[in-house]
Amino acid sequence: MYNQRIINTNKDASRFCKGGISVPLKLNVGDIVELKKFHPCGGNQFTIMRAGMDFRIRCNTCGTQIWINRPDLEKRVKKIIEKE
Ligand SMILES: [Zn+2]
Repeated sequence: MYNQRIINTNKDASRFCKGGISVPLKLNVGDIVELKKFHPCGGNQFTIMRAGMDFRIRCNTCGTQIWINRPDLEKRVKKIIEKE
């Protein structure tokens, strides 16, 4: 009985420690991001126009603006080129 309780506690502890915390990317208005996925026009560099729960990004090649939510954008960002 007593042993079983200890085992259970350990299992809970390991579950608690498992899984990394994902650090949110620092994405600011004006930053240029390079995405893994190419835009249909062939470009993969986008400028952040608006940041928040949803992001508005503009394709630097053709100028099209698109709305994208933060998790999707973070998944696609390959590189952040900060504005100088
Ligand atoms: Zn484009």
